[in-house]
Amino acid sequence: MKRDKKIVLIAHCILNCNSKVEGLSQYRGALSEVVSLLMEQGLGIIQLPCPELTVYGVKRWGHVKEQFNTPYFRKHCREVFKPYLEQIKDYQAADYQIVGLLGIEGSPSCGVNRSCSGDWGGTFSSPKLEFNLNNVKSIDGAGIFIEEIREIFKEEEIGIPIIGVDEKDLKQTFKIIKGLS
Ligand code: SF4
Repeated sequence: MKRDKKIVLIAHCILNCNSKVEGLSQYRGALSEVVSLLMEQGLGIIQLPCPELTVYGVKRWGHVKEQFNTPYFRKHCREVFKPYLEQIKDYQAADYQIVGLLGIEGSPSCGVNRSCSGDWGGTFSSPKLEFNLNNVKSIDGAGIFIEEIREIFKEEEIGIPIIGVDEKDLKQTFKIIKGLS
């Protein structure tokens, strides 16, 4: 049987926007432009788990990076990634190529070059809450899940490019995806 032996890992919500915080999705189900392009490139697609959904569920509030920057969430990220690390090792040992991993820019978990930051926490009756909600900002740097994956790749000496999908400007993402295969 024919196969290209090329695989891409993608953030969960690229195939299933229902994992996002309610109100955040800019598409109905899957990010079809990205998925179609990956398929056209002959890439097999592995959907990573959503590290937020698997802790807080679909009814969670939006979070900022600071709230996930805990030993517990980092440990959770490593645990949910472990079965995928095993697959990566198995595929690579059998001469398959993992051409890249796609994250989601701006996410406190899956951001690659950009995440979001804010001084959040406490009760909803806190007088500080409105001020803090208005002061959430985009910051340089990866989200916590991607930070942990980078660290795991370093520990395991795995060289897979990690690419951020900018859902508001897909042109740059398309160029990078075209260069993957
Ligand atoms: S945590 Fe990652 S996979 Fe889950 S919704 Fe956010 S960006 Fe998507």
